[in-house]
Amino acid sequence: MATRKPFVGGNWKMNLDLASSTALAAAVAAKAADFAGKTEVTLFVPFVYIQAVGQVLKGVDAVRLGAQDFYHEPDGAFTGEISLAMLKDLGVTDVLVGHSERRHVIGEPDALLNAKTKAALDQGFEVTLCIGELLEQREAGQTDAVNDQQLTAGLAGVPADQMDRLTVAYEPVWAIGTGKTATPEDAQAAHAHIRQKLAALYTEEIAAKIRIQYGGSVKPGNAQELFAQEDIDGGLIGGAALKADDFTAIVTAAC
Ligand code: PEP
Repeated sequence: MATRKPFVGGNWKMNLDLASSTALAAAVAAKAADFAGKTEVTLFVPFVYIQAVGQVLKGVDAVRLGAQDFYHEPDGAFTGEISLAMLKDLGVTDVLVGHSERRHVIGEPDALLNAKTKAALDQGFEVTLCIGELLEQREAGQTDAVNDQQLTAGLAGVPADQMDRLTVAYEPVWAIGTGKTATPEDAQAAHAHIRQKLAALYTEEIAAKIRIQYGGSVKPGNAQELFAQEDIDGGLIGGAALKADDFTAIVTAAC
């Protein structure tokens, strides 16, 4: 069986300010010795604080710099958008694609998310593709079908040789920011299905190497039992990523 190094992302969303962003990054970096080499960590920072946080993380190899969004076109008349080249200029190595808030609040469709996934992989970024079902879809027994559809659409045209830079974040939408968490068993079942689907889309070998993170109200108190599941390879953390002690406790639970 492939050994997968755990990976934990901190998604700061539209929170914090300049002083609290740099302070939080510094506090996470101060704990780097606890997880360096054992669990990969990325902070997904609001655009306007990326440069300042990048300065704080300079020389801290154990904590990568991430962006929560970007536009897939290289440049041009796209008012308000941020390109991958601009992010690269600031030292960003990781991007999120398809977070449920981009899918369901902002309204990004599958075709756009696929274009973003392909552009970011083409340009050498580490990409976390987020998928997951709404509450009504779970109650209708559609969890696996929704994950299959979002994976298939998001990865359309992505070549096998770029899949080593792709992470899937399974985030049941009803568990994000709500304090509700999937049980470890339910999360494991969804993750195992996602890995099977990746094997069908690519190969068993590729699927065995891809990290699948769980996201949805992960806290220091529930991280360990979630991360102990065979197909859960770390987490994408929202609310608890805003407190350095909580976030680093979750990262350490993945080690
Ligand atoms: C997220 O932002 O991806 C997330 C899972 O948020 P929370 O941990 O707050 O549920």
